[in-house]
Amino acid sequence: MEKKIARRLEGKVAIVTASTQGIGFGIIERLGLEGASVIVSSRKQANVEEAVEKLKAQGIDAYGIVCHVSNAQHRKNLVENTVQKYGKIDIVVCNAAANPSTDPILSSKEAVLDKLWEINVKASILLLQDVAPHLEKGSSIIFITSIAGFQPQGAMAMYGVTKTALLGLTKALAAEMGPDTRVNAVAPGFVPTHFASFITGNSEVREGIEEKTLLNRLGTTGDMAAAAAFLASDDASYITGETLVVAGGMPSRL
Ligand code: NAP
Repeated sequence: MEKKIARRLEGKVAIVTASTQGIGFGIIERLGLEGASVIVSSRKQANVEEAVEKLKAQGIDAYGIVCHVSNAQHRKNLVENTVQKYGKIDIVVCNAAANPSTDPILSSKEAVLDKLWEINVKASILLLQDVAPHLEKGSSIIFITSIAGFQPQGAMAMYGVTKTALLGLTKALAAEMGPDTRVNAVAPGFVPTHFASFITGNSEVREGIEEKTLLNRLGTTGDMAAAAAFLASDDASYITGETLVVAGGMPSRL
């Protein structure tokens, strides 16, 4: 039986970065199905067009804009074109991230450290600087952090540290952007996407992760989308500065 989805986001305008596949696509699809007008973006025009078509086929009001999050002009275009078309912004999900190396922190090249900071943290701050003047009262910002942010280690150590930074950024911006804007984060566990395929693609590693969860499975993009839609909606209207861990019960303390 098809699951019925509430329409909590009618009349809202939502931007999701890196939303042409994986968790970002899952989130933008869910926001759209809940009634929001959605702005799809990622680096490649062809991916943007394909995602917009998939969303429109489901009756979603979707509009596509190419945006490499570390490109200042792309970020400006994303915000200006959205405001030109819809007149406002209610929801921004900062989902783009990179994990360019699996080296230990002490052997990481400076260029890798710069890229991790730039894409995983700085680009979201700069995007929100552009977005802020256009945010409506009751708006909602959501960062996509990671379970790896709570215990950065191994092949994802430095990437994990940038995700830890997002936990702090969530608290700091919730204070700075309240009371009109709520700022929260979703911390996914392991989800078999292209990004995580170097981990979840290995059946032994995958089974090890499944065993570390209390629910004995990996997460789905739908699990992450449901959490993001909740935080974006008025159902979460008294929640700000929080990180919702969606990781099947994996340990999540700093
Ligand atoms: P994914 O399936 O590989 O999707 C990546 C998306 O990002 C694509 O749409 C890609 O499209 C776009 N993209 C990549 N670099 C970009 C950039 N610089 N600017 C704009 N768009 C960009 O990845 P995912 O697993 O869904 O990851 C999404 C988020 O979830 C990330 O923040 C990641 O850290 C987080 N996360 C993932 C997991 C997991 O297990 N998968 C766990 C915890 C947290 P183009 O190629 O067209 O740019």
